Amino acid sequence: GTSGPWRDFDRSQVYTADLESALHYLLRVELAAHGTLEGAELKVFKDFVTLVAKLYPVGGSVVKLMETLSDWLLGLPLQQIPYQAVLDLVDNKMKISGVFLGAELRWVGCQGSRLGLRGYPCSLWTLFHVLTVQHDAAPAALDGSGLEGEAAPVLQVMRRYIRTFFGCKECGRHFEQAAAASMDQVTSREDEVLWLWNQHNRVNTRLAGSLSDDPVSPKAPWPSPALCPACHEESNGVHVWNHANVLAFLRRHYGASNLNPRYSL
Ligand code: FAD
Repeated sequence: GTSGPWRDFDRSQVYTADLESALHYLLRVELAAHGTLEGAELKVFKDFVTLVAKLYPVGGSVVKLMETLSDWLLGLPLQQIPYQAVLDLVDNKMKISGVFLGAELRWVGCQGSRLGLRGYPCSLWTLFHVLTVQHDAAPAALDGSGLEGEAAPVLQVMRRYIRTFFGCKECGRHFEQAAAASMDQVTSREDEVLWLWNQHNRVNTRLAGSLSDDPVSPKAPWPSPALCPACHEESNGVHVWNHANVLAFLRRHYGASNLNPRYSL
């Protein structure tokens, strides 16, 4: 949940506080529903941690924690890890380094106008958009990770994470359907960025006006004409996206230089 004062934010920026809160929630709340990690589940979690450790676009305590977690998971001979051991490592690492991975959840660009709106699912979308853009910008970061052989590693890891761990099961089913229909056709890093953008817009369209729609941040095709005029065109009176300009916009919006550390921990 979110509490405390409203934090002013700029919709044209991405806040590291949201990304850190996503990881905090994921590690401490979402994963806690799984008493033990084993087999395929454990592999999915390892791949997720590796992906974030390699592609998180800015340095600092988050990436250090994810690197430590990744090394620890990869070095473990165990087939089965109690969730409590993951939590102990996260807590311990925090004590040693004196840094926090979100002692509290601090939503900024993902703030809801009331409790129960936005927050974690918003931050998870944001995190994966950032990772697709970073993979596009620096693909060699995945060399040697075991993920570099996959055609669209960020999407594939996301697909497996959502299917296995995402608390919203209905969301997981929808996403899996979309992935099964077209994710295998994604073979370039540009398409990886655009596939996620397009899929997110499909979800926005489906959910516009639903209960999860925050009146202060209504769901709509994104980016809006105000955010990216060049993304929008008209052809014979019909709205069409200019994909080259959308790609350029996504690279800028979710790129490392547009990350705002304000409110970060
Ligand atoms: P979000 O949709 O979460 O978007 C977060 C931010 O991303 C926006 O504020 C905007 O800055 C940016 N953004 C918006 N659109 C795009 C885009 N196309 N490309 C790039 N950036 C964009 N909820 C359901 O009720 N049913 C579902 O089936 C469902 N499926 C989901 C599947 C996944 C994988 C995830 C992560 C979430 C899903 N959700 C679903 C939750 C839902 O999509 C929203 O995340 C949630 O309702 C919060 O909405 P929001 O207003 O914060 O905006």
